Amino acid sequence: SAKDAGRCGYAFYREELTSVAFERVLLESSMRHGLDRQEFVLNYQPQIDMRTGKIHGVEVLVRWEHPDMGLLGPMKFIPAAEELGLIIPLGEWILRTALSRAKAWCEQGHHCGVISVNASAVELQQRNYADRVIAVLDEIGFDPKFFELEVTEGLFLGEFELAAKSLRRLQDYGVAIAIDDFGTGYSSLSYLKRLPIDRLKIDRSFVQDIPGDENDVAITRAVISMAASLQLKVTAEGVETEVQRDFLLGEGCDIAQGYLFARPMPEQEFLFWLENHTPLADNS
Ligand code: C2E
Ligand code: MG
Ligand code: MG
Ligand code: MG
Repeated sequence: SAKDAGRCGYAFYREELTSVAFERVLLESSMRHGLDRQEFVLNYQPQIDMRTGKIHGVEVLVRWEHPDMGLLGPMKFIPAAEELGLIIPLGEWILRTALSRAKAWCEQGHHCGVISVNASAVELQQRNYADRVIAVLDEIGFDPKFFELEVTEGLFLGEFELAAKSLRRLQDYGVAIAIDDFGTGYSSLSYLKRLPIDRLKIDRSFVQDIPGDENDVAITRAVISMAASLQLKVTAEGVETEVQRDFLLGEGCDIAQGYLFARPMPEQEFLFWLENHTPLADNS
């Protein structure tokens, strides 16, 4: 009968709701414990000046060594951390850890240039975000000139002016601002004028098929020349082949990141790489 169906429907709905809520609680507590138990780890990927082959900087990329699920990449847990609000303590841990490690390397004589940290759009919706970042820089005694924040166009889904204000404050303090995954988000180009931006990172999806794909070639060229006209610096993401490197260099893009040069590495491996990396013979 209709009544039975209704009852069944209701029972089914309630059960599903409960299990989703339950999974959320599990994930939340497992993430909180993960933070307490130091299960999150940072990897470091060099950014290379292709003209000289020397290191320009390093991007910090988080992973989760989950006790049951093994090593998890950020796409597996960052969205949940954003939804649960846990990106705030996680983001702060990432920032503090990255800057203190980089400071220690520098004191040991390892120079890695600019350290780039990804900031979630959710973090940028925090009213005191800039103050908190500045407090961490001060606490560690880290020169903001060697620090860059990577933000995505996801920023525009939230309160734009709030995020823009934080970014302006950080830039005034000496921090560089990079737009990550440039060209893939929801935004109009007008924000390039309205935001304090130092650098565009050309998304890997455009770099992947150059120089074979005419559209990607055209887009990449356009981004590089637009960046030059707006006096923005530019980095290419996901450079995997020499052909891509040569094309980008030819177009005037000098900084790149990708498997051609190095993968993201745990700290010890990264420091070993740094020690043993030899820039191009003809330029160094
Ligand atoms: P992203 O910031 O655009 O980082 C670059 C991603 O491209 C990294 O993936 C990196 O491992 C990958 N990659 C680098 N070179 C190559 C290449 O040559 N080929 C290919 N196929 N991939 C390459 P990963 O580490 O999985 O990070 C994915 C995304 O997760 C990041 O994209 C970023 O949006 C987010 N993420 C990573 N770490 C953090 C973090 O500490 N905080 C926040 N909020 N987000 C993070
Ligand atoms: Mg990034
Ligand atoms: Mg990116
Ligand atoms: Mg990306």
